[in-house]
Amino acid sequence: MIGEGRLTREFVAYGRVDDCPVIDTHAHYGPYQAIHFPRHRPERVMDTLDRCGVRWMLTSGHVALVDPRRGNAEIAELVAQYPDRLRGWWVINPNYPERTEEELDAFEAQSGFVGFKFHPNGHGTPLTDDRYGPVLEYANAHALPVLSHTWKGAGMASYREVAIVADKYPEVRLLMGHAGYGDWVESSKVARDHEHVYLELTAAYSVRGALEIMIEHAGSRKITFGTDHPWFDPHYGIGCILSAYMTDQDRRNILYRNAQALFGLPLEGAGAEGEAT
Ligand SMILES: [Zn+2]
Repeated sequence: MIGEGRLTREFVAYGRVDDCPVIDTHAHYGPYQAIHFPRHRPERVMDTLDRCGVRWMLTSGHVALVDPRRGNAEIAELVAQYPDRLRGWWVINPNYPERTEEELDAFEAQSGFVGFKFHPNGHGTPLTDDRYGPVLEYANAHALPVLSHTWKGAGMASYREVAIVADKYPEVRLLMGHAGYGDWVESSKVARDHEHVYLELTAAYSVRGALEIMIEHAGSRKITFGTDHPWFDPHYGIGCILSAYMTDQDRRNILYRNAQALFGLPLEGAGAEGEAT
């Protein structure tokens, strides 16, 4: 089912809609050893953003997911090069807890990053592990965003672990990357029941019916758009939002309004609240 509102008609006709900018809250950067990304270079990234109407992209480096010291520095350089299009996620690798203090100092000294990126599954460390504690305490004290990979499965980074962390650190703006993939109803209820927990849509957008479940149980105000770019093209994810059962107001909440409020990103010309669609 393709939506029939103005947003769908204009995205299909022009590839972008000027008064409906997109904020991609979950992207990556750089080449990756095991797969060819034809559009990973900065100029190509900018071209993709322009074609798809993506106004802001929040990104973490593939290198940073393995070696944060080198990879976060790479992203700091990149976002300094494109300060009006990109912001970074500061990756924390909990396998090196002796570096955490140094990482927090380095985070504090910069201005191009919005918060911290965790990947419990990739780093083999449950979200509830003590080694994330100092970072979560810092994020809680400063009401900062944390984007964590989340996925179905007990004991690592499912809605269960998110609920525990959200109860313990209620000021952290916790984005559930992939929306707790697979546990759609339970994850949506965790977002509903915790003021600062959000469902981030990377990969989740393409599962039939999942978006409608999230809107029913959590509401479109608790959902942010993301793509894992350059793994996936933003147009794919945008098409899924346009094709799901929801109103154009819901689509605007998901595509930019929620992220704009969460991250304080300037957006010129975005559609006004409550406009006719
Ligand atoms: Zn990712």
